[in-house]
Amino acid sequence: TEIDMSDLAIASRAVLKPIAQIAEAAGIPEEAVESYGRYKAKIDPSHLPARNAALGKVVLVSGISPTPAGEGKSTVVVGLGDALSLAGAKTLIALREPSLGPIFGMKGGATGGGYSQVLPMDEINMHFTGDFHAITSANNLLMALIDNHLHRGNALGIDPRRITFKRVIDMNDRALRNIVIGLGGPTEGVPREAGFEITVASEVMAVFCLATGLEDLRTRLGRMTIGYTYEKKPVTVDDLGAAGAMTMLLKDAIKPNLVQTIGGTPAFIHGGPFANIAHGCNSAIATNTARSLADVVVTEAGFGADLGAEKFMDIKARYAGCEPSAVVIVATIRALKMHGGVAKDQLKGENVQAVRDGMVNLARHASNVRKFGIHPVIAVNKFTDDTADELAVVTEWAAENNIECALADVWGQGGAGAGDLAAAVLRAIEEPSDFAPLYELEKPVEEKILTVVKEIYGGAEVDYTPAAKRVLEQIHANGWDNLPVCMAKTQYSFSDDPTLLGAPEGFTLLVRDLIPKTGAGFIVAITGAIMTMPGLPKVPAAMHMDVDEDGNAVGLS
Ligand code: ADP
Repeated sequence: TEIDMSDLAIASRAVLKPIAQIAEAAGIPEEAVESYGRYKAKIDPSHLPARNAALGKVVLVSGISPTPAGEGKSTVVVGLGDALSLAGAKTLIALREPSLGPIFGMKGGATGGGYSQVLPMDEINMHFTGDFHAITSANNLLMALIDNHLHRGNALGIDPRRITFKRVIDMNDRALRNIVIGLGGPTEGVPREAGFEITVASEVMAVFCLATGLEDLRTRLGRMTIGYTYEKKPVTVDDLGAAGAMTMLLKDAIKPNLVQTIGGTPAFIHGGPFANIAHGCNSAIATNTARSLADVVVTEAGFGADLGAEKFMDIKARYAGCEPSAVVIVATIRALKMHGGVAKDQLKGENVQAVRDGMVNLARHASNVRKFGIHPVIAVNKFTDDTADELAVVTEWAAENNIECALADVWGQGGAGAGDLAAAVLRAIEEPSDFAPLYELEKPVEEKILTVVKEIYGGAEVDYTPAAKRVLEQIHANGWDNLPVCMAKTQYSFSDDPTLLGAPEGFTLLVRDLIPKTGAGFIVAITGAIMTMPGLPKVPAAMHMDVDEDGNAVGLS
C-alpha cells in the first residue's frame, strides 16, 4: 500500500505531546500556560520569569523572488527549528497565523509542509485560538461606532466620503469589496459607500503585530486615522473614544499561542498581517517572548527579501528591538531557473545554465542583507527533481563569494534534513553583526522611498501619480513625515513590473498611492494593483475539502 504523503496525512500520523509538556520543556512555568484544548495554549508573558542571560538571537528566514507556488520559507523555518533543536540549541519558532482567505482560495494553509510542519495543522489553519475573531471584532466595533457617530449627528464633522477604514472579514469575498450601507431611511443609518477588506489587511492586525505590550497596543489603536473631516483634518480612533473597548476585545488575543512542530520544537504562532500593505511578520510580542525563553528564535517575513527582510529591519526590528543576527535566504532550483529565463511551465527537467543565469537574483538579495550589517545564509530548499549539477551551481557560487550556504531537505526529512543548515546558522549568529536600518526616520518620505528603491531594488528613480503627490502634501501637512515606509510591491520582481525577473536595473518605480497608517506607524507606498480583499479562483481549494466519518479534516493543504 502506498503511504499518503499529503501535508494533512503526514500531520495526522504525527504523535503529539500534551502542550503542558512542550511548555515545560521550553521553560514556561505552569501559571503562564492557558490551555486551549490538549495541543494549543496561550502563554501569558506577564507570568514569565525575567531572563538573566542575554536575549535569544533572532534568525530571520526570508527568500529570493519567488515563483507563484512559493519557495518554502515557512517549511524551512520549521525544519531549521527542528534541526537547531537536534543540534542541542534551545530553540523557539515564531510564525504567522494562517488566514482563511488563502486556505479556501488558492495558496493553501501556512503551517509548513511535508515533515516540517507545525501541529495540529487543521486547528492552526482554522479558528485556532480565536485571535482572528478578536481582531475582526475590534475592527468592526470601530466601524459600528463610526457609522453610529454619523447617525447621531456627526459632532466630529466626519466626511462620509472620506472614511478610509473598512469593515473586515477573514474570507476571500470579492462581492464585498464595494458596497452601499445605511439604506432604508432615517432610522437605518446614514447611507454611504463602504466596503470590506480581509482581516489580515486591517490596520488593527498590523497594530496587533507591532505592539510591544497592552499599553502600546492601546496607544497605537488610538492613533489610527479612520478618515477625514469636511475640512480634511484627520480623525483618529481616540477622537471617537474607541481605543479602550477595542483593546479590551484584544486583551487575551495578544498573548502568544504555543504549539509544537512534528519534531517537538515549541512554536509561537501569533498574528498575521499582509506582506504588501503591512509588514508581513508574526507579532512582536511573540518574537520578544520567544527571545526571553530560548537562545535561538527562528522567524519569518512574508514575500521575497526585498520586501519581507527590508520591512523586518526597517519597521519591525526598529519598533520592537528584535534585530536579526542572521538572515536565511531560501532559494529553490525552480525559482533560479525561472530567473534564468525559463518559462514557468517549463521548470521541470535539468537546466544547469538557467540556474547559473538565475543566480543574479539570489546574489542581489544576499548583498542587500549585508547592507543592514547582517550575515546572509543561503538555504537551498531541495525538491525531489533537483539534480546534483544544478545544486552545485549554488553551493559553488556561495563558496566563491564567501557566503554560508547549505542544502536542506526539510520537506522530505524534517530537522534531520537540515543539519548542515543548522550548523551554518549557528556559525553565522556567532559572528559579530552590526545591524542598522537602511534609512533614518527623520528623512522625508520621498527620500526614504528612493533609498529603498536604489539600495534594495536596484532601481534608478521614483515617480508619483498626481493622486500620490496629493497624499504626500497631506503627509507633510499632518506631520507624518517621520514614519518608516511600507512598500506594497509585487514580490515577483525587484521592480514594480512582475515580469521583470532576475536582477533588473535602472528602472523607474511608480508610486500610485500612499496610505498613512498612523497607528501601525508606517506610510504604505502602493506601487501596483494591491488587493485588500482577494477573490476566489475558478476552482477554489474549498471544492476539495470535507470531513471523514470520524470527523477529521480532509483535503486541507
Ligand atoms: P512560503 O512560506 O515561502 O510561501 P511554504 O513553506 O508555505 O512557502 O511552502 C509552499 C508550498 O510548497 C507548501 O505547500 C509546501 O508543502 C511546499 N513545499 C515546500 N518545500 C517543498 C519541497 N522541498 N518539496 C516539495 N514541496 C515543498
